Amino acid sequence: MDEREPGARTYLGVPLYRPKVAFFEFTSCEGCQLQVLNKEDTLLDFLSLVEVVNFREAMTEQSDDYEIAFVEGSITRDDDVKRLKKIRKNAKVLVALGSCACFGGVNQLKNRFKDLNFVKTEVYGRHPIDSGPVRTLEEIVKVDLKIYGCPVKKEEVEKIVLHIAIGKSIVFPKYPVCMECKRNENICLFELGEPCLGPVTRAGCDSWCPDNRAGCWGCRGPADDPNLDQMKKIMLEKGFSEETLLDRLECFGGFSSLMKKGNVNEKDL
Ligand code: SF4
Ligand code: SF4
Ligand code: SF4
Repeated sequence: MDEREPGARTYLGVPLYRPKVAFFEFTSCEGCQLQVLNKEDTLLDFLSLVEVVNFREAMTEQSDDYEIAFVEGSITRDDDVKRLKKIRKNAKVLVALGSCACFGGVNQLKNRFKDLNFVKTEVYGRHPIDSGPVRTLEEIVKVDLKIYGCPVKKEEVEKIVLHIAIGKSIVFPKYPVCMECKRNENICLFELGEPCLGPVTRAGCDSWCPDNRAGCWGCRGPADDPNLDQMKKIMLEKGFSEETLLDRLECFGGFSSLMKKGNVNEKDL
């Protein structure tokens, strides 16, 4: 029986559809793709759910015949645009993988400089490098699904792929990281003298950083209806500077649209 025929494979008795998937990267550190390859104990299960036809970090074979494209990285060059549009055309579903793809990630920090040639020279010296302003995938093509995080959490990627394979809807947490942090019985880092964006950041990482005694930097972007004014108040009350707050809010680009709306901006702080 063709393994792509419904009924050929099942998971908990539910017929599995095994989609052809491809992984691509643009401007990124490739850490999100590495997450997918990490943790060998679940890798075989993951690979049984999908047929990987393109994954430069893991295999040499390449094919344009795929249904789901996982795209990591932000867009910084003209030839990136052409390549991304081709991927979009080939894929039924395009998934933005990680904060670089969703928000511009740490790369978007360079957009803060008025003179991008200055940035280019600082980083690459006199080498003739083509590197323009940072754009998200969504600024170029339609994105069907976003998987947040810098890096993405492997368990979340696997869960999403499983849901696609069995046709179950995908629901992302709307609540903030603090909810997971409390569930994991951590002492709040503010009590230990460390700043944290957990109150305004989208959960889903299972409070990865606070679990390891490091404050959240907001890599997954904002939770639903985040109260940035209250976040600012807490930071100041706990003795952290406005600059510390701004550094964190700006780091991955997830909060940029909210800051532009005037909740918190450089003038404000
Ligand atoms: S989101 Fe983070 S881990 Fe993923 S590619 Fe970008 S910089 Fe690397
Ligand atoms: S450590 Fe951070 S995430 Fe945890 S409760 Fe405190 S503010 Fe929230
Ligand atoms: S705790 Fe914050 S910075 Fe750390 S992984 Fe979660 S969302 Fe990202």
